[in-house]
Amino acid sequence: MPRAEGVFSVSGGCVLAGHAKDESEHRRDICTVGRWLYERGYIVACEGNLSVRLADGRILTTPTCMNKGMLFPEDLVVIDTEGRHLSGERRASSELLMHLLFYKMRPDVMAVCHAHPATATGFAAAGRALDQALLPEVIIGLGQIPLVRYATAGTPELSQALEPYVEHYDALLLANHGAVTCGPDLLTAFFRMETIEHCAKIVLAAESAGTPKLLSSREVAKLMASRARYAVTPPPGGGAELPVTSDTEDEGAGEVTLKRGELDALIEEAIRKDRARR
Ligand SMILES: [Zn+2]
Repeated sequence: MPRAEGVFSVSGGCVLAGHAKDESEHRRDICTVGRWLYERGYIVACEGNLSVRLADGRILTTPTCMNKGMLFPEDLVVIDTEGRHLSGERRASSELLMHLLFYKMRPDVMAVCHAHPATATGFAAAGRALDQALLPEVIIGLGQIPLVRYATAGTPELSQALEPYVEHYDALLLANHGAVTCGPDLLTAFFRMETIEHCAKIVLAAESAGTPKLLSSREVAKLMASRARYAVTPPPGGGAELPVTSDTEDEGAGEVTLKRGELDALIEEAIRKDRARR
């Protein structure tokens, strides 16, 4: 196929599950998933990056400064686990540091997906995790999606901020930045990115429609117990922290929020009662 400016790369839209593929299949998969991310608006311009761990341990990844929805297999870059360039005419993104952290800490991870899906990134920019027990699919698949504190993209500081989460979660929000997911194959990592964005949209819709009704810890325990039935393998760090449930919120009921006027009224009433007693 002749290459022309702005022409979409790999045709077709099929990525098979599983990771037992040769390098050329992984190259096509990365181009296809890149196009899916772009078509869904999870990335624009030159944002985002994808990678897979090849059978010999090298990392195949998207190049920097290119639209990930318009890649050709030969645009991809191969690096080693230290981030050193091995082959490919282009350069890998500095954000690859984040991917390498997953590969180093998680032998089970074979693919990493980083994008800036608008609604989920809106939560990340508002300082909000997607940590409420609202949607069974999210609870079963991911537990919850915590928010990693802000650090400059592509720096060791961001890796430091991520490190405590990597062994415990498969999907993370990055404050004022975007989201990152991992998986045993690229399709799973992509699905997890879709789940994050879908969850963020539903939370916003629930908040617009009324007050979101959280599930109880009893219901969450039942969902967690059903993980095996859905062939969900929790992260090796002992499983994701449980989401905030309706009764977790009750535990916080010891805390009371009052408006200034209400507080003044309570104080006045207490003073009045005290005077009446004397
Ligand atoms: Zn980014």
